[in-house]
Amino acid sequence: MKLGIYGGTFNPPHLGHLAAARFALEALELDELRFVPAAAPPHKALPAGSPGPAERLAMTQLAADSLLLPGQVDVSDMEIARPGKSYTADTLRQLRRQYPDARLWLLMGTDMFLTLHQWREPEVITALAGVCTFARAASDSLAALDAQAARLEKDFGAATRVLRLPHVVEVSSTQLRALLAKGEGQDCLAPAVYGYIIRRGLYGVHWDLKHLPDRELRACSYSMIRAKRIAHVQGTEEEAARLARRWGADEEKARRSAILHDCTKYLTMEEQLQLCAKYGIVLDDLERQAVKLLHAKTGACVARDVYGVSDDMYSAIFWHTTARADMTLLEKILYIADYMEPTRDFPGVERLRKLAYEDLDAAVCLGCEMSIEEMHQRGLPVHPNTVKARDWLRSRPIGKEP
Ligand code: ATP
Repeated sequence: MKLGIYGGTFNPPHLGHLAAARFALEALELDELRFVPAAAPPHKALPAGSPGPAERLAMTQLAADSLLLPGQVDVSDMEIARPGKSYTADTLRQLRRQYPDARLWLLMGTDMFLTLHQWREPEVITALAGVCTFARAASDSLAALDAQAARLEKDFGAATRVLRLPHVVEVSSTQLRALLAKGEGQDCLAPAVYGYIIRRGLYGVHWDLKHLPDRELRACSYSMIRAKRIAHVQGTEEEAARLARRWGADEEKARRSAILHDCTKYLTMEEQLQLCAKYGIVLDDLERQAVKLLHAKTGACVARDVYGVSDDMYSAIFWHTTARADMTLLEKILYIADYMEPTRDFPGVERLRKLAYEDLDAAVCLGCEMSIEEMHQRGLPVHPNTVKARDWLRSRPIGKEP
């Protein structure tokens, strides 16, 4: 196995790190690339007020997840878990013990590569791993990199690779921290990392979470879910906005309810239950067993309590999974948008999509019927509110405005 190790302080991780990681993964034909955030970097003191190791680890996990390469790109807490300064030689020794047969490649930008001979135990580092470097600015001298590679080969017998990134993202965490404090720099970050920074108020970024603009609300939402779900949340937002325009609902409310509708989807059962206790959510028997059903309720509470959504938006999020009798227009829109947004693909979805723009009640009714049928087929219990929603919609006059 070929394992790439990409160390750094990641304070914060930015698109430069991600572009280099993606390119190195392919160029070196790595089986896996692991970001390793340092606890206490030996070569540079972290600026005062920097986030702690746990926060840098969390941001690096969000950044790595945003590459959408599960199984290939991962984050290790090995340096953060290890007491004392984070020496690369120690990290490589540890990895060598763990993977005796792996080919290790240490990845680093120009600045690190040019000083590698001054690190602690360069001879151990170069004996345990190949060293791969890439320019981090268009102006970086490739001749200097080649000369340093020759020197490391001559002095330590190092195996080196100098990669030419096709597209250099010219940004450093230092620049980014200064930009963020001025309200800029968002474009250099994975949106989920930006969202995490907003939620934790890092780097002088201070927003009132209850009054976030759409872009910042999206970032916060994406920072709470897995990157693979973001396309679904984006699809739900677009579909909900279109449906709101079609049926005369408040487009902004539809959009923002959709942005937040899955914000607690990835919490564990235990975390869900803690939120239920915190917000006084009373659960029925079915909900106590099915974590899937809980996220709608806990998500609604977080959306209202943390992000200040109005009661009608709270209610749309609250009922988006099961539906219920006597649904409001906004509740119907979020329910059906979630069901048939553009990334969904299942038999019958086209019919649902067409119906949603012709007769909204009929579409929601069909959605409930399809859910009930699916639960039956899988031998799972159906939530009584879905049955009540279906019966209520069946009893409504056909073609009535929703
Ligand atoms: P700081 O500005 O705080 O020094 P940084 O942007 O250099 O931070 P680090 O976390 O220290 O980020 O860097 C980790 C590794 O990523 C280093 O090997 C560094 O050379 C490399 N690197 C940093 N920025 C880029 C970039 N824009 N393109 C390619 N590599 C980069």
